[in-house]
Amino acid sequence: MERPTSSPNETGTAVPTTRLAPSPTGALHLGNARTFLVNWALARQNGWKVVLRIEDLDTPRVKPGVIEQTIETLGWLGMDWDEVAPLQSSDLAPYRSAMDALARAGCVFPSELSRTEIAEAAGAPHEDSGEVRFDASLRPSEFPCAFADAQTNWRLAVPAGRVDFTDSFLGPQSIDVSASVGDFVVWTQRGQPSYQLAVTVDDHRQGVTHVVRGDDLVDSAARQTLIRRALGIGRDPVYCHLPLVRGADGKRLAKRHGDTRIDHYREKGVPAERVIALIARWCGLPGRNELVLASDFASGLSLDTMSREDVTFTPEDDRWLLDAASR
Ligand code: GLU
Repeated sequence: MERPTSSPNETGTAVPTTRLAPSPTGALHLGNARTFLVNWALARQNGWKVVLRIEDLDTPRVKPGVIEQTIETLGWLGMDWDEVAPLQSSDLAPYRSAMDALARAGCVFPSELSRTEIAEAAGAPHEDSGEVRFDASLRPSEFPCAFADAQTNWRLAVPAGRVDFTDSFLGPQSIDVSASVGDFVVWTQRGQPSYQLAVTVDDHRQGVTHVVRGDDLVDSAARQTLIRRALGIGRDPVYCHLPLVRGADGKRLAKRHGDTRIDHYREKGVPAERVIALIARWCGLPGRNELVLASDFASGLSLDTMSREDVTFTPEDDRWLLDAASR
C-alpha cells in the first residue's frame, strides 16, 4: 500500500489530520452541516490538518455542478481546509491495489449470490440499514489468490469476534461485525470500491488520524478496522461519532421534515451566522445568540458540554432561522 502523504513531525509521529468528507448528493442539510462544523471546529482548536475529500463514489450518480455547490456551501458557512484530496472517481488504482493485497492475503472472495439468496440463507435483513447478513457458510470453498474486477461483488471474510475501540465521544465500543452484517462488500459489481474500502484506503493514504462523523457510521468504524487489519496497515484513527439531528418525529433528518438544505435557507436570505447560531445551540454552546461566527463557534465548542442525545430539529427552529431573513 502507498504510504500516507502526511509527513512526520520532529518527534516522528504523524501530523494530526482530519477530513471533511461530504458525499456530493446536493443535500448538505442542517444535520450533516452540524457534523462538518463540529469536525472543522475540533480541527481548528487542536491544530489538526484538514483535508477536504469529496466522496463521489459514495453516491449513485453525481449531478453536474453539485460538487462545486457542496464545496461552496461549506465555505459559505465559514469552513476552510488545508488540502483538497483528488476526487475518488478520478483514479481507482489505489483501491484496486488494496484489493490485490487483500486477495493475495486470502481475505476476500467474489460472490455472485443475490440479495434474496443471501437473505434466505441467513435470516432477516440487518435491522437499521436494510443490509443483509452474509453468513460465513456462504463463502466459496476456495478463495482466488488474485483480484479480478469481473462485475461481481467481492466480500471481506470477516473473522468471528468483536472489534473493540474507544470512541472519543461515545466511549468504549465493542462491535461484532460477523454477527451483524457478516462478510460485507468491499468491491461492488459496478466495478468500484465500496464505501468501506474507499474510506479505509483514503484515510490511510491521506494520513488521517482523526475521524469525526455521525454516529450512524459507528458500525462502519469496526468494518474499516477489519479492512485495515486485513491489509496490515497503519494505526487506527481516533474515532469521534456524534449524535444525529432528527426531525420532531424522531426520524433522521430527511425530505419529509421540509427543506432543511443549507442552500434553501441561504436562498431565503438567512445569514450563515444564524445557521451557525442554531448549530451552536444544538452543541450546547452557552448563550442563545442571534448570530454566531464560525470562528467563535470553533473557539467555544467543547465536547464535554455537548449533549449525548440526538438533537431534534423542530418547526420552531425552522421559523427561528427564517425570522433572521426578514430583518
Ligand atoms: N461521505 C460520508 C457522508 O457524507 C461520510 C463518510 C465518513 O465520514 O466516513 O456522510
